[in-house]
Amino acid sequence: MVICSDGDGTEGSLVVEQTTDTVDPPHSPTSKHNNSRPYVNPHGSNSHHNNDKTKTLTKYGELVILGYNGFLPPGDRGRRRSKFILYKRSVANGVKRSKHYVVKTPHNSQAVLNVKQHSISYTLSRTQAVIVEYTEDDNTDMFQIGRSSEPPIDFVVMDTYPANDNGPSNESRMAQSTISRFACRILTDRHNPTITRIYAAGFDSSRNIFLGEKATKWQENREIDGLTTNGILIMHPQGQFCGGEAKCGAWREISVGGGVFSLRESRSAQQKGNVVDDEDNILKDGTLIDLCGATLLWRSAEGLSKSPTKHDLEELVDAINAGRPQCPVGLNTLVIPRKTVSDSAQQQPYVYLKCGHVQGYHDWGQEKDKVTRRCPMCLEAGPTVKLCMGIEPAFYVDRGPPTYAFNPCGHMATEKTVKYWEKIAIPHGTNGYIAICPFCAVPLEGSPGYVKLIFQDNVD
Ligand SMILES: [Zn+2]
Ligand SMILES: [Zn+2]
Repeated sequence: MVICSDGDGTEGSLVVEQTTDTVDPPHSPTSKHNNSRPYVNPHGSNSHHNNDKTKTLTKYGELVILGYNGFLPPGDRGRRRSKFILYKRSVANGVKRSKHYVVKTPHNSQAVLNVKQHSISYTLSRTQAVIVEYTEDDNTDMFQIGRSSEPPIDFVVMDTYPANDNGPSNESRMAQSTISRFACRILTDRHNPTITRIYAAGFDSSRNIFLGEKATKWQENREIDGLTTNGILIMHPQGQFCGGEAKCGAWREISVGGGVFSLRESRSAQQKGNVVDDEDNILKDGTLIDLCGATLLWRSAEGLSKSPTKHDLEELVDAINAGRPQCPVGLNTLVIPRKTVSDSAQQQPYVYLKCGHVQGYHDWGQEKDKVTRRCPMCLEAGPTVKLCMGIEPAFYVDRGPPTYAFNPCGHMATEKTVKYWEKIAIPHGTNGYIAICPFCAVPLEGSPGYVKLIFQDNVD
């Protein structure tokens, strides 16, 4: 079964998608946009003009996949994109828990057969299941995330492989994927968008969620709850994401019913963790959501209003280029590209990752039979990499000049931004954590995992 199909005819079947695409056109590398155009809202520069669509849309926030610098490599398409913007629905589509009861065979029960009725079936044994019915909730909007391209999934997320890693072929990627087809759902209070909650598992095309016999489940105070196979983990940063003072918080697991638990012994262990009473499933600006295969960053609309726009970031690149940084060896002018690929190899700046000196491409200091080079400025030997702007605004914790770069990938960002992400532990494999560059998902190297850039500029 082809799961990643983009052209399956389901695009645009949801009202919110159409408006999303109107307001936020995909920034694929091939799309011909005027460079001076602001990123998030193409109408931002003339917001005083009438535009019915943008006027009526209320933005709740954005979910951004770590590892993409503004768009997916083949370009954003339909519900497959590097980020998903949550807008207030024209009509509420949220659901809330109502009655529950025990049945012998869930697949034959009325609530499950009725495709208009949302329900969750918890299979306890071969002959017993608990069905929880859900009713419409006029006060919430629901958004679903998963690997499936079926219509109920608003944001289709595939496994992320670091940009420098070609990884397995497309076919084996499907087979190996650890992201659930209906991974999680997010419900936002239509009257108070700061209350945006996350729950494990999403409803399928028949509006059902099935937790099989093997899934972890339990019953407490007459309420039943459970965990999905690989689980949905979240991490609320301690402190404000904006400003860069926040620290990495503890990773927690979220249940199907929205409860908060300490992590299981391993990702898919049978035994659930302990209840964490003093924490909740309400997303805050900067909360990370780990789907086991991809990690999403939640940015609230309020938080984003304090962050730079893509246009701001492009202007910062222009400001550095205006200083005409020079290669100390070739004495040619270097130009930092706004996009991943430089137009001119001659002008592409490289950073020496040990010392931070920025130079052009040349053979000076090339060590024999090694990939390392000796820096002609300070004679320190080490690896070099092409410099490239981190252009996805959501990953920035503050505004300012991009004077630092991540090691080893060379993505540039502000000092506070690189220092923040260097301290953020992202789940990796079944038990470990690593720090990654948010723009390309490459594991950071060295200590620290970044370097301060030294340009030779403003020389004339
Ligand atoms: Zn140097
Ligand atoms: Zn990077």
